[in-house]
Amino acid sequence: MDIEIQLPALLFAAPPAAEQPPLWLTNARLFDGTRAPVRDHVGVLVDGGRITRVGAAGDGAPDGSVVIDLAGKTLMPGLINGHMHGVGQVPDPGFGAQPTLPGTASHLLGAKLREFLQYGVTTVRDMGTYGDQVMENRQAMRFGAYRGARVLTCGLIISGTAPGGLVFEGMYREADGPDEVRKGVREQIRRGADFIKIMTDGARSVELESGVCRHSDGSAASLPNQLTYDEMTVAVEEARRMGYRVAAHAEGLAGCEAAIDLWMQTVEHGFYLHRRPELLDRMAERDVALVPTFSSSYVFAGRDLDVGLDGDPQRYCTPELDAVANANIRELEKTLQAAQAAGTLLVMGGDDLELRRGGVWIEVQRLVHHGLPAHDALVAATSGAARALGLDELGQVKTGNIADLAVVDGDPIANPELLGDRGRFWLVLQGGSAVAGSALEVGVADLGIAG
Ligand SMILES: [Zn+2]
Repeated sequence: MDIEIQLPALLFAAPPAAEQPPLWLTNARLFDGTRAPVRDHVGVLVDGGRITRVGAAGDGAPDGSVVIDLAGKTLMPGLINGHMHGVGQVPDPGFGAQPTLPGTASHLLGAKLREFLQYGVTTVRDMGTYGDQVMENRQAMRFGAYRGARVLTCGLIISGTAPGGLVFEGMYREADGPDEVRKGVREQIRRGADFIKIMTDGARSVELESGVCRHSDGSAASLPNQLTYDEMTVAVEEARRMGYRVAAHAEGLAGCEAAIDLWMQTVEHGFYLHRRPELLDRMAERDVALVPTFSSSYVFAGRDLDVGLDGDPQRYCTPELDAVANANIRELEKTLQAAQAAGTLLVMGGDDLELRRGGVWIEVQRLVHHGLPAHDALVAATSGAARALGLDELGQVKTGNIADLAVVDGDPIANPELLGDRGRFWLVLQGGSAVAGSALEVGVADLGIAG
């Protein structure tokens, strides 16, 4: 569905690069963010913060440009993390430590936003946070305090009054009845949100919402919706009227069906969709994207950094929720493969609550492990995500786009595990500015006197 969208995140992006000569990135292997085959010996010209030419290395550089030889390296769009939570994680220093001050979490989030760049992630979508930490960091980046991943945010999550409102106290805007839901949507727009997120149904991390105390088929596939159809209709109507997209938290099939009926732009989680293949077909027809989010289920299953279900899990949630999380990984594997077969738009987003090392590499590996070809996993992390999020000028290496680019030493399609190795990110550009990469880093050893 075409809506003329509002994205404050683009307004709040870091200031444009200082005057710099054009960059001619040449001899690269190019993954352009789409399903097009990877090409060798490509040259890409970056000027004024944009990609101004995609051609052959032999085309030669314009006069006055800086020539950067990328032989042996892969040039690709800056990665997009389509589902994360902009929450700074304050370590627990132990009993007796000085109490944590209210602003500390925000600084720790800022450190993560900088770290994203070091792993080639130039844009992230915040799916719910506490307080103003995302907005504070966005302002700090706007005013040039530091460079970090550009953040799209939902503000608070619109939910009915529900048990999750206690578990995630401060992350939800609970609203009951159409008028209050409309007001909740307007409040997020007032805060500067980029899109509206609604909880169609409950969360697998909340025992009173996850279906574990219901008589059912042992899964949450039949979860009831928490918001009524009328409430969801109003949320979508108000968001769309004002030019904002809607993301649906939807685990059970009823939540997914409502999201698709009401034409929300993304379905987050959607574990059981393989059981209703016609819903995946309708998603493909309507360009409603699926964000599979393997990583949060791995965390809840106590499988932290595992890829696959072979390792011995550690306890993370209650035993019942642990079982749900393990079952969800198996369901999601079937859904991922069915969605791929149906041609449903896929978005990479781990929902990784710890934001480990950029938070993207392990979700990509899990997508690949559970059956998505690596090339398609990287499409989901670039042009697929950009399309679902309404980022028309990001996610693809093409003329005219904003120059968010990552240069990887090696081939991340053949070896997706490279994405977890910070040293392999040789150069990262955001809006044409060199913001990260091993080529820019000087270590103490480099300062020694040669010989
Ligand atoms: Zn989430």
